[in-house]
Amino acid sequence: MEEKKRTIPISRFYTCEEQLVKRMKKKGRKNRFSAETKADYEIWKQETRQLLKSLIGLHNMEDCPLKPDCLERVEIEDGIIREKILLQVEPEVYMPVYVLIPPKRGEEKLKCFLAPPGHQGAGKYSVAGVRSIPAVADKIELFHYDYGLQMAKLGYVVLCPDCRGFGERREAALQGEEESEFLNSTCFHLAHMAEPLGMTVIGMCTWDLMRLTDYIKERGEWDEESIGCVGFSGGGMQTLWLSALDDRIKTVIISGYLYGYSDSLLRLNGNCSCNYVPHLWEYVDMGDIGALLAPRPLMVQSARSDHLNGYRGMDNVMEQLAVIRKAYRLFGKENEIYHDVWDGGHCFHGEHLEKFLKG
Ligand SMILES: [Zn+2]
Repeated sequence: MEEKKRTIPISRFYTCEEQLVKRMKKKGRKNRFSAETKADYEIWKQETRQLLKSLIGLHNMEDCPLKPDCLERVEIEDGIIREKILLQVEPEVYMPVYVLIPPKRGEEKLKCFLAPPGHQGAGKYSVAGVRSIPAVADKIELFHYDYGLQMAKLGYVVLCPDCRGFGERREAALQGEEESEFLNSTCFHLAHMAEPLGMTVIGMCTWDLMRLTDYIKERGEWDEESIGCVGFSGGGMQTLWLSALDDRIKTVIISGYLYGYSDSLLRLNGNCSCNYVPHLWEYVDMGDIGALLAPRPLMVQSARSDHLNGYRGMDNVMEQLAVIRKAYRLFGKENEIYHDVWDGGHCFHGEHLEKFLKG
């Protein structure tokens, strides 16, 4: 007997997307970057930083002693030591970090990079290049996810944290050992718990990276004046936010995360919850946040076939980069922006790293 269909077809849907796109165009970017002088830029920068800090709930984060604890110290490859450090980032909130320490090459203190992770790589395990875990090895292959290890091989001390919801910091919903759980993150669950409390995932991750920067200062072994940040995808998002809000970050590498919000996060509205900050688009687009990086050395990596660029592809990238360039131009430092564009999909691109870093 044929089973009776339990639903009916809908011939026409009455949706909101087009109206929201129009609304963003009409009402968005109230705090856009438009300064014509360095003095105006400085005023805009202070105001915008305060605004962004408040939107992401940074004022609601609680300070505490870091209480660093070294849980493990092993040699991995090329003489690189890998330490596992546990830091208290808020009272009773802990962040495990892999610290990759290459051999010293001369008398000078080693320079440092923070390397926050993106999605689907089990947090620090892929960034620090832990290929002994087969599921992680596959993701390293796919996304070139081991950028922490790549930087350590170039002679930098690289701090690869589990950001909130990733790796050993997954909340209860995804703590299983299945590959789909191990590689995944609990951003959705964190966003649900945090936002009604005036906090956001971006705010929590930015706070934790600020604490990691404090740790470098507190440890005092490495060059504190030349700290950089590198990240791909969700790690690029964290790199953008940390560097935009904290001048202690002197060199910025953002891979696969620089585009306009309307195409890439409003139209592509199935993206992860960690990307979404209540009220953000009323005030800025991503290029405005990027304008806060001026005039520090900045590498932006964009792949022409990255689906996250949205339906207009590279046009959606170039428009935001033009806003950032305008800010650098005020300082006569446009040449500090290195835009690495290649034909490929959503993955990290290590080919020109050394060239960029050697200036
Ligand atoms: Zn996420």
